Amino acid sequence: MFEEKDFEKTPLSSMGEFGLIEHIKKQFALDQTSSIIGIGDDAAIISHADNTVVSTDLLIEGIHFDLSYMPLKHLGYKAVIVNLSDVFAMNAIPTQITVSIAISNRFSLEAIDELYKGIALACKRYKVDLVGGDTTSSKTGLIISVTALGTAKTEKLSYRSGAKENDLIVVSGDLGGAYMGLQVLEREKAVYKVNPNSQPDLSTYAYSVERQLKPEARADIIDLLDSSNIVPTSMIDVSDGLSSELLHLAKSSGVSCQIYEDKIPIDPEVLQICKEFSINNTTAALNGGEDYELLFTVDQKHYDALKNHPLVTVIGHISEVAKGNNLITGLGQQIELTAQGWNSLLEQD
Ligand code: ADP
Ligand code: MG
Repeated sequence: MFEEKDFEKTPLSSMGEFGLIEHIKKQFALDQTSSIIGIGDDAAIISHADNTVVSTDLLIEGIHFDLSYMPLKHLGYKAVIVNLSDVFAMNAIPTQITVSIAISNRFSLEAIDELYKGIALACKRYKVDLVGGDTTSSKTGLIISVTALGTAKTEKLSYRSGAKENDLIVVSGDLGGAYMGLQVLEREKAVYKVNPNSQPDLSTYAYSVERQLKPEARADIIDLLDSSNIVPTSMIDVSDGLSSELLHLAKSSGVSCQIYEDKIPIDPEVLQICKEFSINNTTAALNGGEDYELLFTVDQKHYDALKNHPLVTVIGHISEVAKGNNLITGLGQQIELTAQGWNSLLEQD
């Protein structure tokens, strides 16, 4: 799985930038009624009846992804997902993306096709149109930047800043999986370096590895909120770890968060991997990144609608700012939450 792929196929230089853009354009049709003009003019034209929300992420090889275990198709898919997740976190529906890439001559047309296959898959699954981008060269690594556009009515928009005292704190899915999946992949990469003939058996880590390599964005939660007539008082997506996202919500809203350790949802496979790596599972859930779950607050009146719902877990409540942000352990101990989230700037040291 870690073999250098044979990228010496069709050199990109044989197509030129415009040839490549034409080639990409052919694979993407426009499906959204709000997409008026896509790839091919100086700018795309989008026409939303309601607010337009916009979000951008930049992914750099060697900092945000490692191509020795991240297949290009998965990278394309994930690059789109991380942006859609930000649009969902505003309680908006994504509609379009643009994708900009900087590529070195070590990539062939076939390699770029793999990347765009992943992008196309995400576009199809989440019903968004690719409407433009930019293509340029890079001396070494691959750089990919995605911008996502979406739309929402004003009364539906959820900011980080609206959490109120006594609101419930709710999180979708489960946490820590993507981080533990990364630990497994890093370990297998190290084993492969020593013994290139080793065949990693990742079957017992399937869920976590998939959480790392092929995350999904929680469109289903936006549907659930809509059908339950719930507008979160605040919302954020979990990209840097639960702890750091809770602190963002608390700070933006001028309140504090109290969460209960035994309520934090963690998949049994993730618990098992934590044991194997001697990593505390609460630490993995609080500080691991890239789960792309939605973390939100709602008024207490929605407790009955959410308390036993399979897609979400109520993990705590909002308090006055003076209480501080705390994790309450099973033994009733109070531990102050700190943001030691996964920070790509720190990772460079
Ligand atoms: P300009 O010189 O005006 O920036 P480009 O030649 O970069 O124009 O782009 C021409 C068209 O192709 C534009 O519509 C742009 O959005 C689109 N485009 C360029 N690169 C990409 C890409 N990697 N993916 C999708 N669309 C692209
Ligand atoms: Mg351009």
